[in-house]
Amino acid sequence: MTDPQPATAPTPAATTAPGAPTTAPPNASPRPPALETRDVRRDLPLGDQTIEILRGIDMAILPGEFVALMGPSGSGKSTLLGVLAGLDRPTAGRVLVDGIDITDMPESKLAVVRNAKIGMVFQAFNLIPTLTAQENVEVPLYVGDHPGSAAERAKEMLNLVGLQHRTAHRPNQLSGGEQQRVAIARALATDPAIVIADEPTGNLDAHTGEVILELLGELRARLHTTFLIATHDPRVAGRAERVVTIVDGRLQDG
Ligand code: ADP
Ligand code: MG
Repeated sequence: MTDPQPATAPTPAATTAPGAPTTAPPNASPRPPALETRDVRRDLPLGDQTIEILRGIDMAILPGEFVALMGPSGSGKSTLLGVLAGLDRPTAGRVLVDGIDITDMPESKLAVVRNAKIGMVFQAFNLIPTLTAQENVEVPLYVGDHPGSAAERAKEMLNLVGLQHRTAHRPNQLSGGEQQRVAIARALATDPAIVIADEPTGNLDAHTGEVILELLGELRARLHTTFLIATHDPRVAGRAERVVTIVDGRLQDG
């Protein structure tokens, strides 16, 4: 089903954008990359062989950048995002999130860093079906230590993505585009250092995909959120500030 443009475009009621960075004092040390990898490799045993899925990835994403990760199917995009988000461990190399080396971090500590620093958006939305839109957005706020009221923050985030009229709906009462907007609101709720999205328009029709892309671009402009978006979609690349291409587990130059 085609997702209609929200009646009120995703414009927050608040005049100051939530999560917008405050101005740094003049002699503050510069912020580290939101995300950094050093020679990241990921092997996968397959029978008596080993497949090299990631073959030495070096990348850095600076705060506020909007980066598209492009590459053919099977090139390693999802594997790389999983490693970057701390959902999967590299076989070798280092992964740093907002300057914190997460490579060897024990799972309990890693979960805290993931919650505070990383927002994830998936192709299949990955909402909890028994929870309302608002409750889905509240979930990460109950996990970590976050200031203020989770309910108020969730409402604010749903307002930001143009879903203030859908707070009490469950995922199966929402269109695909609306579900993805809830997922984006959830990813932004904790004010993460980076939002990592894996094919966020992959399950949406062309028009709805376009609306979601517009929303991401708008959020980026308003909140200065850092985005890394893996995609096949050339329209995503067209909106990105920088395109990183992965082929056969290696980044291509240029
Ligand atoms: P992309 O997201 O770019 O399509 P993936 O990261 O999903 O690529 O996959 C990269 C390669 O790793 C593919 O060849 C895929 O078949 C392989 N692969 C990924 N996960 C597994 C797995 N759990 N078992 C076996 N092969 C896998
Ligand atoms: Mg993939």
